[in-house]
Amino acid sequence: METMTWQNWAGTASADPVRRAWPRSAEEIANAITAAAKDGLTVRALGSGHSFTPAAATSGVALDLSGWAGVIGADLDSGLVTVRSGTTIRDLNAALDTLGLAMANLGDIDAQTVSGAISTGTHGTGAGLGGIATQVTGLQLVLGDGSIVNCSADERPDLFNAARVSVGALGVLSTVTLQCVPAFRLAADERPMPLGEVLDRFGEFAAGNDHFEFYWFPYGKNALVKRNNRLAGGDGPSAMPSWRRFLEYEVMENAAFGALCRTGRAVPATIKPLNRLAAATLSKRTYSAPSHEVFVTPRRVRFVESEYAVPRESLLDVLAELRAGVGRLAHPVMFPVEVRVAAADDVWLSTAYGRDSAYVAIHQYVGLPYTDYFRLFESIATSVGGRPHWGKMHTRDAAYLGHAYPRFPDFLRVRDETDPERRFANPYLTQVFGD
Ligand SMILES: Cc1cc2nc3c(=O)[nH]c(=O)nc-3n(C[C@H](O)[C@H](O)[C@H](O)COP(=O)(O)OP(=O)(O)OC[C@H]3O[C@@H](n4cnc5c(N)ncnc54)[C@H](O)[C@@H]3O)c2cc1C
Repeated sequence: METMTWQNWAGTASADPVRRAWPRSAEEIANAITAAAKDGLTVRALGSGHSFTPAAATSGVALDLSGWAGVIGADLDSGLVTVRSGTTIRDLNAALDTLGLAMANLGDIDAQTVSGAISTGTHGTGAGLGGIATQVTGLQLVLGDGSIVNCSADERPDLFNAARVSVGALGVLSTVTLQCVPAFRLAADERPMPLGEVLDRFGEFAAGNDHFEFYWFPYGKNALVKRNNRLAGGDGPSAMPSWRRFLEYEVMENAAFGALCRTGRAVPATIKPLNRLAAATLSKRTYSAPSHEVFVTPRRVRFVESEYAVPRESLLDVLAELRAGVGRLAHPVMFPVEVRVAAADDVWLSTAYGRDSAYVAIHQYVGLPYTDYFRLFESIATSVGGRPHWGKMHTRDAAYLGHAYPRFPDFLRVRDETDPERRFANPYLTQVFGD
């Protein structure tokens, strides 16, 4: 018999839904919702389970949308592509390849569903670019009363502004229309650099590259700086041979790093030296590839993560405090800190709403203590008005978030209008949005 228990990728959230449904059309989504309402049950849509928060958890009806996937319309002239809500980013990228199109910006992995990614404000990096929700031009949603509604900048604009990042609080997305761009290649430049130099040149690197980010191992002196820039035509460095890609990404970044992490977990006293070793053995690589092959890297070593968007001008202070605090932690940190950037956007609950942002993500190897570290980070990030990623670990509540997001009251109003019965409630939504 199939077990009902649901668990997320990181193992930080689990739930026992009363039942699951596998809808394969907007009407079947609506039927599942009205059947749940008849039984007095709540409903959550499941993505790929890659949120670290219990955003998708439900003790009611879990909607598995994995059978509701694929492209349903594409306009090559405008670049508008409509996909079913259960489509994974990996399958989206493959489909866009065949159309000669691409997403302008993506996060680190492609396992998420399009809907899960936009609902939590998933983002990549680029000082002039926004997260995936900013690339959405239209949504079709099934509401708590079973009605199927469309929204865009012109049609029900308030619902559109609220639903682009909503953590699934307003209804179940059935289709998503994305503004894509012509397919492009990226020249990737990854190299170690002294952390001091990276911080001194942070503004220059952010402004001077299409996609800039860096990783810093808390006890190492070096950061790994990644600068990915769009290529015009066929110029730029050559592609990375597949054996080298395998060696560098699978063996060095996953297998070897996983072995270091396991050693650190077994013998915590080795964590600081291993962390320095990992930082010292970073090496330079340059190559070019289709955009999504550069954006996306395999992540096979499991970890827990918290991430805050902070006003870009606060980044250096945040990192200085974090560096000082990490040294005082009783339990050492195995994983690097990742820093990215995004442009201000207009999506009400986007972590970059209304301000140019820097993202600081902290991680710990799964199974190692992390609460003191995450608490330290959260106190630093919230002291500058930081906004937590909706899908990554944090302890913020509606009172805090109401101050962090100027359009929070508008979002709550739309929630009251579209889901007065709280058909889509779960404990995480109660924490972040209130009852
Ligand atoms: C290894 C790893 C790497 C990551 N890298 C990044 C990164 O680079 N950048 C970044 O910003 N984040 C990143 N994340 C976080 C991740 O992108 C988000 O948590 C994302 O929401 C996961 O998508 P999912 O499909 O797994 O959704 P889930 O986690 O399953 O669900 C997320 C939310 O979306 C809702 N939802 C799903 N489908 C629908 C639907 N059809 N209608 C309405 N609501 C829906 C769910 O109910 C839930 O509330 C990463 C996570 C992991 C584990």
